[in-house]
Amino acid sequence: MREPPTVAGVTLVRRAIHAAIAVAVIAASAGCTPVPQLARTPGTAKTSAAPGGLPGEPGPDAGLSMPVADPLYPNYGNPCLDVLRYQLNLAWSPQQRELSGTASLTIRATKAVNEISLDFSDAYTVDSATVGGASVRSSRRGNDVVVPATLARDARTTFVLTYHGTPRPVPMPSGRGDFPEGLGLRTAPGGEAWTMQEPYGALTWYPANDQPSDEAIYDISVTVPKGWAAVAHGQLVGVESSEAGDTYRWRAVDPVASYLATLAVGQYTKLTDSGPRGLPITYWLRTGKDDYVEPALRKTPALLAWLEERFGPYPFPTAGVVLVDSLSAMETQQMVTYGARLGTQYDFPADLDLVEEILLHEFAHQWFGDSVTPKDWRGMWLNEGFAMYAQWLWSVDKGRNTDAGWVSRARKSDAESRPVAGPPGNPHPDHFGEHNVYMGPALMLHEIHRAVGDAAFFAMARDWVQTQRNQQVDRAGFIAFVNRHTGRDFTALINRWLDSPTTP
Ligand SMILES: [Zn+2]
Repeated sequence: MREPPTVAGVTLVRRAIHAAIAVAVIAASAGCTPVPQLARTPGTAKTSAAPGGLPGEPGPDAGLSMPVADPLYPNYGNPCLDVLRYQLNLAWSPQQRELSGTASLTIRATKAVNEISLDFSDAYTVDSATVGGASVRSSRRGNDVVVPATLARDARTTFVLTYHGTPRPVPMPSGRGDFPEGLGLRTAPGGEAWTMQEPYGALTWYPANDQPSDEAIYDISVTVPKGWAAVAHGQLVGVESSEAGDTYRWRAVDPVASYLATLAVGQYTKLTDSGPRGLPITYWLRTGKDDYVEPALRKTPALLAWLEERFGPYPFPTAGVVLVDSLSAMETQQMVTYGARLGTQYDFPADLDLVEEILLHEFAHQWFGDSVTPKDWRGMWLNEGFAMYAQWLWSVDKGRNTDAGWVSRARKSDAESRPVAGPPGNPHPDHFGEHNVYMGPALMLHEIHRAVGDAAFFAMARDWVQTQRNQQVDRAGFIAFVNRHTGRDFTALINRWLDSPTTP
């Protein structure tokens, strides 16, 4: 996610609201802690090494994860279940503002269970449900849709839910000012729909194990009226026309955490480009609205080349950017979701240099966050520390800022945010994604970088992404990796940056 904007006004009221929500969430914690078992081995999920071409059929274990209960948001996600694959066949009606369709989930039980319980918004009416092909009756419990299902540990089944309704966002647990509408799928005035959903919000458009530790493969098809388009994470594999409209089909064969999923429906103009090594890139501009941003989007190949030089190959078979009616930007996998209002009407002037810098940040996340994903939300610093530091290095490299300027800015921002939002290694749940998880961790990486020098630092960052590809990571794994790779002991330095109540 983009660095949070600094806005005083909206922050305090929202903090009070979300503090109350956080308490309720913790009280409702479910508490299933399965024994860790089968882990994906690096590369097993990789089905498309070279850019270009259509993705193949992923293997049966491509979406295998070891879900854990999230310590910050335990009421989202179910560690007893591991969704291997989401197949979403949806339709969007702009007039009715209605989403309808069928979600077919391939699920593995991580321990013996007698029900399937997944996050799913009660804004939808469930029309039917089946487990393993047999009809079942669904009920609701809190955020969840629940159906009976007796599954032994490691057993697999297919859960199918047919539903319809008008999407309704959920509140953002944060003082950030760029999510006034909340999280998840929402409609725009013209009948468009779009989503940003970090740390959760997939539940606003499909039944999901809505936590970062359960990554899965996706096949998404969305039927829209003629002249409209549906854009999602992953790679476009086809568009089919029928009397019902145009059906856009998307596939993600590298595992995706639910917060990295995206959907945007509207009237779009598609532009194509080519990145490093022939990487196919698409840009989706809202027709007649976003033309001004095209010159910044066209910097994408250069931005990806800059990142590849430092952090190794772009980790996915395609890249893209879809413009939506938001104030923020999000690193959704293979298809960055970019808020068109970000550069024009909010805390920044219309500035294509700024668009370029934010794109650089979101693309850096494709390595740090998307390919290598934190196991739980205490690890968001692993995403934002690296993305912020990549942004820092890039802007210094381009002569837009100085290293000293960044140190000063980051220290000031960390000093303001840390006492309120908590130390980056254990942020307060009602202050999600604030400056604390961006600036301190970037300063920490800066300190390691200065200690070991360019060659060792970038070799370490490259190897981190390569060896942890398609894996979930945490602090202990990062510290062990850094120490092993550099041959030095950075444990105390890293823990100090992550745990200190004030800026080290
Ligand atoms: Zn970010």
